[in-house]
Amino acid sequence: MSDMVVVRKEGLYCVPGQFYIDPWRPVDRAVITHGHGDHARMGHGHYLAATPGVGILRSRLGDIAVQGLAYGETVEHNGVRISLHPAGHVLGSAQVRLECGGEIWVASGDYKVEGDATCTPFEPVRCHTFITESTFGLPIYRWEPQQQTFDDINAWWRKNAADGRASLMLCYSFGKAQRILSGLDASIGPIICHGSVEPLNRVYRAAGVPLPETRMVSDVDKADLKRAIIIAPPSAGGSPWVKRFGDFSDAFASGWMLLRGARRRRGVDRGFVLSDHADWPGLMGAIKETEAERVIVTHGSIPTMVRWLCQNGLDAKGFDTEYGDDEAENAAAAGAAADGVAPPDPEPDPVAQRWAVKDKADAARAAGTAEARRQVDAAGGADIPGGEDADA
Ligand SMILES: [Zn+2]
Ligand SMILES: [Zn+2]
Repeated sequence: MSDMVVVRKEGLYCVPGQFYIDPWRPVDRAVITHGHGDHARMGHGHYLAATPGVGILRSRLGDIAVQGLAYGETVEHNGVRISLHPAGHVLGSAQVRLECGGEIWVASGDYKVEGDATCTPFEPVRCHTFITESTFGLPIYRWEPQQQTFDDINAWWRKNAADGRASLMLCYSFGKAQRILSGLDASIGPIICHGSVEPLNRVYRAAGVPLPETRMVSDVDKADLKRAIIIAPPSAGGSPWVKRFGDFSDAFASGWMLLRGARRRRGVDRGFVLSDHADWPGLMGAIKETEAERVIVTHGSIPTMVRWLCQNGLDAKGFDTEYGDDEAENAAAAGAAADGVAPPDPEPDPVAQRWAVKDKADAARAAGTAEARRQVDAAGGADIPGGEDADA
């Protein structure tokens, strides 16, 4: 049987169904895994998305022809049964299950296996072929339980408030911002959201996700700013917009903050490791749970994941896609790649360590010139200090 999903110049294409999944060029019919800009683009004729994500798509793409499908419900298109299953990445994120002639394929989109308060938790879906992302597909990426990170964030905010200093938290506006909000201790002080974050908060609240009260900066007295936390996109850091906060401490939240170099290059006071993607054990566990014999790896650490999966008896290959990195938003990913040579020590997990040693070398190699260049190109050609000595 020929492949049910292939890569075309427009994006991932379901051959019998004659529709695309997260296409990067305008097409007639698109199934959308989630609302991040690199997966949900403008200009398609029809959109199909998980019902909880429809509000997000409308708020980001405007008046589009979008059909919502509840998680687990099925529609049929040209003989292909399509259903959407929670991916645990952001509100409304879905894995796409395709069934045709007894064959089952699942395209993951972006996913995270640890549940959180802002979206439906990830559900493994059995299939013959699993198309998986690999944003953090190196063994060095292992997340602490999120409560640990929330506790660290609240402790940082509490200390700043006690010292009479505002706390500026830089993070991606859609998904990461709402997840951080869900973990804040609102008794510490006012919570202020940047104008690019607040509209998404409204969509989350409308979908029934409980978030603490948030305010616009104009609604907070100057004296109260000293106790406030401000949630803003990375682009706001260092802009004139933050001058009004006077003395403040800044922080950045992303999975890339696990890497010292990425933190250093961000130039912020604190880096909090919080990712909306699966870490290495999460990716491996998710792949195993699908029971798929074939795995196709997209955006992230394709060569390492493909090699590791093949070594473990799976039929694995990569798909070259145009998806980006929603944890980075500009040069942080480049910094992370360049920093692969100096990862923090992984936890002493004896099974993991068997391959961690070898794969650390892979990480270092992958972080060498080729990968760093690719990521720099993806980041728009920004310069990455330290990129050149990455394989030293
Ligand atoms: Zn995403
Ligand atoms: Zn993605």
